[in-house]
Amino acid sequence: MLVVAENQIAGLMTPEAAFDAIEAVFAAMARRKARNFPVIREALGYQDALYGFKGGFDADAPTLGLKAGGYWPHNQDRGLINHQSTVFLFDPDTGRVSAAVGGNLLTALRTAAASAVSIKYLAPAGARVLGMIGAGHQSAFQMRAAARAHSFERVIGWNPHPEMLRRLADTAAELGLPFQAVDLPTLGAEADVIISITSSFGPLLLDEHVKGPTHIAAMGTDTRGKQELDPALVARARLFTDEIAQSVSIGEYQHAIAQGLIAEEAIGELGAVVAGADPGRNGAEVTIFDGTGVGLQDLAVAAAVVELAKAKGVAQEVEI
Ligand code: NAD
Repeated sequence: MLVVAENQIAGLMTPEAAFDAIEAVFAAMARRKARNFPVIREALGYQDALYGFKGGFDADAPTLGLKAGGYWPHNQDRGLINHQSTVFLFDPDTGRVSAAVGGNLLTALRTAAASAVSIKYLAPAGARVLGMIGAGHQSAFQMRAAARAHSFERVIGWNPHPEMLRRLADTAAELGLPFQAVDLPTLGAEADVIISITSSFGPLLLDEHVKGPTHIAAMGTDTRGKQELDPALVARARLFTDEIAQSVSIGEYQHAIAQGLIAEEAIGELGAVVAGADPGRNGAEVTIFDGTGVGLQDLAVAAAVVELAKAKGVAQEVEI
């Protein structure tokens, strides 16, 4: 098997390659050529950690495998990032393990690529202002990928812990964009595209905050109980997700579904928009992409990085 270590990923993978891999795998999912397997995600009752597996099979690629890992909230105190994961790829013809790939940076890149794909296809025409809700580890990746997918003139941001806002200011400066910290009503009124990427367990962005044509990439909710958006906002928007089964169980739409405000049939797949089978925005004032994070995203970026490592001759071969 080939090993691509975590510390090799930054020198191999590019945000552009991540974007292309995610756009392609979303389209393969919509064509029913690729499917995710049910997610296992368990609270360990140890270190407050959440641990699990996300796997799938893409017959088009073909790619088979899983990502194992999760969220360790106290890692920050140890100088480690809170998300820890490894992707394992298997040969679909033989079942033999073919690669182990560090999954930490890839997770951030594939998550940012997913919201960037949604922005490419769903941002309102002439969108100029990017609104960021959240200033944790993922937020910088999200802003960078959004700025690659669409040309924004400025960034505004809000975070429940204001002391973290420096990360957004620094990232905007790196991108050459002016940044301003604002309150949520201002963010909802002024932003044309909003990315939410927090660990919130209650609604942050309310229906009355959001004015005018807006696209929202809701990226933080990936577990039962988490929530970033007002269900009333979800109820009036045109809805998209990476995978419907995940969005109604562990994603942002779980709350509007539970309250009977939306039906599962109202939710479209972003992949269908990419594949040209869904018109996308189609005159809607507000669109939402619920990015729950699917295993196929992890496999797609891991497979891409293995090819890049092979091409550069830096993948390490190990007998197993
Ligand atoms: P982080 O720990 O670095 O940052 C956490 C962010 O959430 C900060 O903005 C913080 O201020 C905010 N926050 C923390 N506790 C909160 C609370 N109780 N209420 C409201 N906000 C709170 O985390 P990160 O790595 O930036 O990840 C952010 C979120 O994105 C996490 O919930 C994570 O599970 C999720 N995530 C989703 C995907 C996906 O594919 N959808 C992938 C990776 C991470």
